[in-house]
Amino acid sequence: MLGILFIASCTHYYCMNDSDPLAKYRDRRDLSESPEPLGELTDGEGEPIFVVQKHAASTLHYDLRLESGGVLKSWAVPKGPSMDPKVRRLAVPTEDHPMAYAGFEGVIPEGHYGAGTVIVWDRGTFANMKEGKGFAESLEEGHATIRLDGEKLRGGFALIRTGGGGRPRWLFFKMKDGEARPGSDVAEEMPDSVVSGRSLEQVALEEEPADLEGFA
Ligand code: MN
Repeated sequence: MLGILFIASCTHYYCMNDSDPLAKYRDRRDLSESPEPLGELTDGEGEPIFVVQKHAASTLHYDLRLESGGVLKSWAVPKGPSMDPKVRRLAVPTEDHPMAYAGFEGVIPEGHYGAGTVIVWDRGTFANMKEGKGFAESLEEGHATIRLDGEKLRGGFALIRTGGGGRPRWLFFKMKDGEARPGSDVAEEMPDSVVSGRSLEQVALEEEPADLEGFA
């Protein structure tokens, strides 16, 4: 059964044409009915950006997104990031997202992929820390180190692919440096949006899911 699932997902994901990295993003969504951004490739300017979105979908998780090659490379981090170097978080790769997604805060309507509320939990820029190797290449090799300059997440972080085969898993964790905060739980201590100051619950109350008139 697992083998069959793997082959099925392979036709959709691993074997996808690299010339359109956002095809899967668009395939999964009806963007005429969801308030999420259109899937467009964008040329980055200046330092690459990162965002961590907190997403109350069927299960609460955090989405880590890092700019690379005109898209946001994405991972779902079930327990959220930590500033404690002893805490290694599971990060499950998800489809590339368009750059415009970094600003998305709102409600994905019922019945749509990822239905639920999204807030921008943290955002900023990042720098590749690998000497003599680009970020994209580091990701392909499954071992990236970056310096995050966000409002909550700061300093060195590592993203390491573990295992392999059809279901890659990564670990995302704080490196030991002057920004590390051993024993802290940043997701618990700073739960709200860095762009609006709102909680998930406030956004869910205030934002209209799928304001269809906005698309008329
Ligand atoms: Mn998500």
